Amino acid sequence: MVQVIDAHKSFGAFEILKGINLSVNKGQIVAIIGPSGSGKSTLLRSINHLEALNKGEVWVDGIQVNRPLTGHAFEQHINSVRQRMGMVFQHFNLFPHMTVGENVTVGPIKLRKMPAARARDLAMELLGKVGLQDKYDAYPSRLSGGQKQRVAIARALAMEPSVMLFDEATSALDPELVDEVNLVMKQLASEHMTMIIVTHEMRFASEVADRVLFMDGGIVVEEGPPSEIFSNPRMDRTRTFLKKHL
Ligand code: ADP
Ligand code: MG
Repeated sequence: MVQVIDAHKSFGAFEILKGINLSVNKGQIVAIIGPSGSGKSTLLRSINHLEALNKGEVWVDGIQVNRPLTGHAFEQHINSVRQRMGMVFQHFNLFPHMTVGENVTVGPIKLRKMPAARARDLAMELLGKVGLQDKYDAYPSRLSGGQKQRVAIARALAMEPSVMLFDEATSALDPELVDEVNLVMKQLASEHMTMIIVTHEMRFASEVADRVLFMDGGIVVEEGPPSEIFSNPRMDRTRTFLKKHL
């Protein structure tokens, strides 16, 4: 479903991704852990081309995301391939001037050309799924951080993506709001949604992921099932990181 091949990315003189390979099968859940600055967000942003790689390839759903196209052809290509990926960021980026319902329906109506009534039904269903059906007409400013993040998840799901990308979706939340968002992600996992989850919560990663990648200094230092990475890491760098974060 997602394949990253030898991804390199530099900002100025600094190489931030130094040859990353990642492959995620349909229905798999991959958690990415690692110290701050190790390149986790840059990797995720490169997958949906919010960052352009200097070298390497990204494939989603059998389509190369960073195809060597230019101009209008590239714009068209990227807009269509991005619809296959739902992204949820650390900071809820809901449209503040739109209601919850409008936030969730705008993508399906504008991009998927869905009739408004059908988009409304879909939004109601998805808001039900994240426990917020009663907030359809509310504005984001009236919601808690956890509720906003759940709306952001519903909005991403409304595009019926092939893969969901989460970048520290709970790290800006008050501790008591973390579980309600994690619960939604766990529910998606139980429904076999393909997901790549960057997280600093080791316990959550061990509970939800099929595979864990430990990144440090722009490389994947170690990867494996959570039981191995968390209980029996092979690399010193992984051990040192986990000692601080478990
Ligand atoms: P992580 O998500 O693992 O904390 P990031 O991918 O956000 O790491 O950042 C990795 C490194 O790349 C950091 O040193 C950061 O300062 C740098 N970086 C990220 N984005 C940019 C950018 N747009 N311009 C310059 N440097 C950047
Ligand atoms: Mg980050």
